[in-house]
Amino acid sequence: MQTADQRGQKEILVIYGDDPETMALRLAAAAGLAERIGDRHKRIGLKPNLVVPRPACEGATTHPELVRGLIAYLQQQGFTRLAILEGSWVGARTEDAFTVCGYRKLAQDTGVALIDTQQDHSRTYDCRGMELAICDCAMEVDFMINLPVLKGHCQTMLTGALKNHKGLIPNQEKRRFHTLGLHRPIAHLNTRVRSDFILMDGICGDLDFEEGGNPVPAGRMAAAWDPVLIDAWAASQLGYAAEDIPYLGLAENLGLGTADLRQALIQALSVPAAADRKVFHPGVKVMHLVPFIQEDQACSACYAALVFALSRMNRQELKRLSGPIGIGQGFKGKTGTLGVGNCTGGFTASIGGCPPVALAVLDFLRKQAIQGIS
Ligand code: SF4
Repeated sequence: MQTADQRGQKEILVIYGDDPETMALRLAAAAGLAERIGDRHKRIGLKPNLVVPRPACEGATTHPELVRGLIAYLQQQGFTRLAILEGSWVGARTEDAFTVCGYRKLAQDTGVALIDTQQDHSRTYDCRGMELAICDCAMEVDFMINLPVLKGHCQTMLTGALKNHKGLIPNQEKRRFHTLGLHRPIAHLNTRVRSDFILMDGICGDLDFEEGGNPVPAGRMAAAWDPVLIDAWAASQLGYAAEDIPYLGLAENLGLGTADLRQALIQALSVPAAADRKVFHPGVKVMHLVPFIQEDQACSACYAALVFALSRMNRQELKRLSGPIGIGQGFKGKTGTLGVGNCTGGFTASIGGCPPVALAVLDFLRKQAIQGIS
């Protein structure tokens, strides 16, 4: 018999919508965050992803509205010792990112401190078999809330919770991470830097690049306590299995959580709603995939699952999908050839889910490509 804490550790709460402030508030409340933090005097670190000075709509950075909703929740619950901690990547100044991404205004409005880890001191720690330098501010918090963006990455495929903590090390160490191959140091870093709660921004993360430029609107947000488990879930939303991301297995072996998604207790707090595709201005890479899609009132999360799945297919596989793939609420009760999502259940071949998971969509489309159905 599992305890409530053990069950909570495996919980992933998902919410759909287009209002990050309200969504964050609802997720924090549903997760029972205040009860889990406990003592109102604890120092709480909020760690967004502000890798570059680009607004969140471009797919690289955490929506400030999400952080605003979380701060409102925490302050309403009596927590006052909050600080936003972040250091942009080596090629950018965090100070610029704070301004461009809307965090300076957020700090003024809420009274929460902004700490630039590029300006912080650091010390070297034994991170379970690997010596790594970590900024002081990251080690001084009693409770860390990790606020990553669910997006692709050109080297590690996924940027989620575990990788987000790279913003809490000095620039020199960031450079060294790359010489060490990223995966191992990412996993080991997380043995020393806390991730007590994760609120993942899946509103419009980038297709495959940490710097943004090809945002894929997905209109969702997720909360969890296990950083490995939520990263395994995030990987599946991009069309990857946990085994495809080496740092997930490494983190699991270091005892940081489980990458076995079958153990996850996934609960949705809302259902997806049809999105207005006219306001979506895809980047070049996403534009290349649009001709393969025939959408009619598709929800963002459903559309995103298809886009991510298509992006994982090679040119030959795509060629075999000669006809467009139906997706959206407009196809309910209709017939067709190839469809994605429960709404296309009347099609000759369709993958269910509401919304479906990109990994399952990819598997389905690859099988269809082999059979040459379309
Ligand atoms: S299956 Fe239909 S209702 Fe469900 S997410 Fe897809 S488009 Fe929306």
